[in-house]
Amino acid sequence: MTVRAQARVNVAAIARNVATFAAAAPGSAVCAVVKADGYGHGAVASARAALAGGATWLAVVSASEAAALREAGITEPPILVMGALSTEELDVALAARADVVVWTEGLLDAIGARGGGRVHIKLDTGMGRLGTRDPALATALARRAASIPGVDLVGAMTHFATADEPRDSFFAEQLDRFTSWLDELRRAGLNVLAHAANSAAVLRDPASHFDLVRVGVGIYGLDPFGVDPVPRGLEPALELVSWAAAVKPIAAGESVGYGRRFVAAQPGWIATVPVGYGDGWRRGLTNAAEVLIGGRRFPQVGTVSMDNVTVDLGPGTGASVGDEVVLLGTRGTERILAEDVARTLGTINYEITCGLLPRVPRVVHSDGAPV
Ligand SMILES: *Cc1c(COP(=O)(O)O)cnc(C)c1O
Repeated sequence: MTVRAQARVNVAAIARNVATFAAAAPGSAVCAVVKADGYGHGAVASARAALAGGATWLAVVSASEAAALREAGITEPPILVMGALSTEELDVALAARADVVVWTEGLLDAIGARGGGRVHIKLDTGMGRLGTRDPALATALARRAASIPGVDLVGAMTHFATADEPRDSFFAEQLDRFTSWLDELRRAGLNVLAHAANSAAVLRDPASHFDLVRVGVGIYGLDPFGVDPVPRGLEPALELVSWAAAVKPIAAGESVGYGRRFVAAQPGWIATVPVGYGDGWRRGLTNAAEVLIGGRRFPQVGTVSMDNVTVDLGPGTGASVGDEVVLLGTRGTERILAEDVARTLGTINYEITCGLLPRVPRVVHSDGAPV
């Protein structure tokens, strides 16, 4: 059924991308990161696909995201809640049997007071957001966690700030700080699952793999380095597809859209496509995107409005009402990547798929085995 615009998510591609990461990090468990509704792909479908592809852990950021996965029937695998938690959110996370991240005594004791839970201690080795910068405190917290009845010390973690910048030496500094802390934990006789790597780190440096890798962006077939996923063996899993809802002639000198930001230089045809910034197709793409119709590239012209964009079909009609219009995806030899759109907008691929709003239905399909 044709609807305004839909995000078609190929779960088989997600499963294959997970398998690619599993092969890139042999000896490490794969934790699939499905925060922010699976980077816009749908959290539950993405989680199931990732588990089918070999992930044995899931990670989210909020307690409610963990609860939603459990409610959807994903009862077995550990789910790591990576974000900061208020005490109300802690209750939700623990009720969902989620693992939580700890870097203060206060949170650790709150977990103990609630009968315990599974915890991961976070050292801030340089990201500067969550975690403690003090390895001695982190070790003390791990020791305390191991001693509180009901509290299960599961992991020791950190997060890289520059994994996606291959020439930056700060990554190695963070890795050094983390490795020294792990040595300290071992000397203290504390047994933990060590994890640090995001998608870029997995592909960049096997020394970052440790026991578990936390892969997000790459499992959706988005390039962790923001260039092109395909040469890295990753397949984009999401297509954004709409349709030509109107095809009209335009005379030279006539304009389309708010502010008349496109004026036809010669007679031609314009297709109106019912997708706009109210769907997450950003207004910054005004006169700055292309679409695929019938496997051919056409420029999107005029202002992106809340509910529509317009496409310059040129002097031939080139398209008819009802034709498929691809905003993200591949047809024949032509493709439009989230990375291309991100570059135009001065942002990263993550924000393009995360930014698709709830008005865009996610339609799950599989080109392979059902997952
Ligand atoms: C989002 C996130 C990840 C996954 O990062 P990607 O770059 O998407 O692979 C890993 N760890 C933490 C703490 C995160 O917040």
